[in-house]
Amino acid sequence: MAETRRLYDEDAYLLEFEAAIVERRVHENRPAVVLEATAFYPESGGQPRDKGTLDGVEVLEVVDLDGVLLHVLASELPMGTVRGRIDGALRSDHRQQHTGQHVLSQAFWELLKGETLSFHMGPEISTLEIGLKSISDADCDRVEDRANTVVREDREVKTTLVPDDRIGEVPLRRPPKKQGLLRVVEVDGFDYSACGGTHVRRTGEIGLIKLGATEKIRGNLRFDFLCGGRALRDYRAKDRAARRLAASFSCAPGDMSAQVEKLAAEHRALKKRARGLGERLAAFESEEIVRAAGGRVVAGVLDDRTPEEARALALAVVKRGELAVAYGAAGEGQGHLILARSGSLKADLRQLVPVVAAVVPVKGGGGPSLVELVMAGSARLREAVDAAAAWLRENA
Ligand SMILES: [Zn+2]
Repeated sequence: MAETRRLYDEDAYLLEFEAAIVERRVHENRPAVVLEATAFYPESGGQPRDKGTLDGVEVLEVVDLDGVLLHVLASELPMGTVRGRIDGALRSDHRQQHTGQHVLSQAFWELLKGETLSFHMGPEISTLEIGLKSISDADCDRVEDRANTVVREDREVKTTLVPDDRIGEVPLRRPPKKQGLLRVVEVDGFDYSACGGTHVRRTGEIGLIKLGATEKIRGNLRFDFLCGGRALRDYRAKDRAARRLAASFSCAPGDMSAQVEKLAAEHRALKKRARGLGERLAAFESEEIVRAAGGRVVAGVLDDRTPEEARALALAVVKRGELAVAYGAAGEGQGHLILARSGSLKADLRQLVPVVAAVVPVKGGGGPSLVELVMAGSARLREAVDAAAAWLRENA
């Protein structure tokens, strides 16, 4: 079958076209058509497919089968000529991200000899894998500055077809993957890439180019980046969040880091103090619990305590009297069972693990005199505590 003529190769701004259906097919149980020519871009080269309609029928997928482009449809179309419409906002976004990638890739190469190893355009964020081991903030800034200078210079973006025997004359950034007639995309005098994607006419259209988070991958660096409309939306959301946070701290956005660090330090100090107070309180409470204890076993679900507080109380109780304790406490969607005994008692509390597990599924463990078990949710804490208490009355 003849390869589909790709109208987006000739004009990346073409959003409406007419073309004859040359074949109707079924693709993965859905109707599909092949057209003699199409402006729909298939998923390839790191760039997602176009969205849109053929005669009002939604195009769900555009698949490249060895040069034949298959349009997978939401419902069937009869043979004949159809009118295609491309989602213009999405195409514009793809042109910005894709051309921005060319500019960024060349900026990484020009300034840091960082080679582009892969590119992926996601629905929200795009990524670029660069052959660098590490990068400083200052170098990130230099790359961004260089890329944005090329945007402001509003350079022309030209597409030419070059036969592969003459490709050596083109200063390509990367060697081409394909053979035959090669499509070369030139950002005037700055970058030359063999690429089949959709690009802007002039770099000014890319808008702001912004690098985001960096991650180490396969010994290289992977950069998030945003161009144009995406960069603006990201800045808008972050600016709002920053101003809202600054207002809640009654400070300028620039002073926020210092404020958060101060708050975190205060939080750590308060936690430490709360722990100390909790231990002192547990010592007083344990005295009363030991006095009131009817036998050797103290048990209960402590509704108003964290697992940490329950543990501190259990340890204070077993220190004060010759007792065994089974306390339950809820924390972060889990039920905690704390089992402790005085040093003078001989029972090995690890034997309690299968006893409780036979009643309620639990995980955890410990030593002969202290065991902590965790269960999903706290609804069955009481059952677990009762089972443990019964065993302790017999064995402790
Ligand atoms: Zn490209």
